[in-house]
Amino acid sequence: MRKLSGKDLAQAIRAQTAAEVEAGPQPRLAVVVATGDEASLWYVRSIAKAAAGVGIAADIVDLGPDARPEQIRESLIRLSGDSGVHGLMLQTPLPPGASAQELAGAIDPRKDVDGANPLSLGRLAAGLPAFAPATAAAVMALLDHYEVELKGRRAVVVGRSTVVGKPLAHLLLDRHATVTVCHSRTRDLASVTSAAEVLVAAVGRAGLIGAEHVAPGAVVIDVGTNPTEDGGLTGDVDFEAVSAKAEALTPVPGGVGPVTTALLLRHTARAANLP
Ligand code: NAP
Repeated sequence: MRKLSGKDLAQAIRAQTAAEVEAGPQPRLAVVVATGDEASLWYVRSIAKAAAGVGIAADIVDLGPDARPEQIRESLIRLSGDSGVHGLMLQTPLPPGASAQELAGAIDPRKDVDGANPLSLGRLAAGLPAFAPATAAAVMALLDHYEVELKGRRAVVVGRSTVVGKPLAHLLLDRHATVTVCHSRTRDLASVTSAAEVLVAAVGRAGLIGAEHVAPGAVVIDVGTNPTEDGGLTGDVDFEAVSAKAEALTPVPGGVGPVTTALLLRHTARAANLP
């Protein structure tokens, strides 16, 4: 079984991004945060640190866990109109009553480096240029890096969120895969997933995908990040059981995650250079 690590690929993307940044004006990324969730705040700080590592300035705009939806919207509108900001993200979770999808409509699509504005998803679905959500783009980058053939192959995506499953289905379709999307109402999940030549799990349930869900020789990408009791992370795929059957599998951590962060930075550098 090939272990599809994302670490080297992430490093290569960061190095390329640093070179792009050096050649032009300094890009600036703003991340709007309205939560007290420690894991989320840790993630945002890790983005800021990674940004600094490639020469991108990052501002964390922390509105606090009691921010009202209107305050969040106003902040996004202000930063969208700020010519000194090139990339703009809205971090989740948000306070009760605030909808990330509704609010992300206030992000200028040209700065929408995590593909959160519904317009970006629509453009992606229509095959028009747009920033894809970094996680969906990371799955495609990993498949390309490890030279996984997609054309004409059966790809199954488990999960239909607007941040991962749906955009990924469009990206796979664009590459001529035959795509099936599964979700919580899918009947007999294993019968669908075990037909996949390329299987992507993006659910958020530790160990949901076991050996019975995977065809011998399949390539399996695990997007899931589930906290473990000892403070670590585990994926949606039962790594040990699936290793025995799959041809290739991404680890968690160290698979999709690092590539996601690296692509967010690449998108920010590209946004800064849009004509
Ligand atoms: P989400 O919005 O909660 O969506 C989860 C999806 O899984 C939904 O479509 C849901 O179906 C489906 N689902 C739930 N239970 C299922 C079951 N038993 N069988 C089949 N499908 C089921 O989650 P998300 O934001 O897409 O994130 C998914 C996972 O990826 C999470 O673990 C998240 O932490 C991780 N993630 C990782 C990265 C990264 O960089 N590595 C980035 C983003 C997210 P319904 O639509 O029917 O409810």
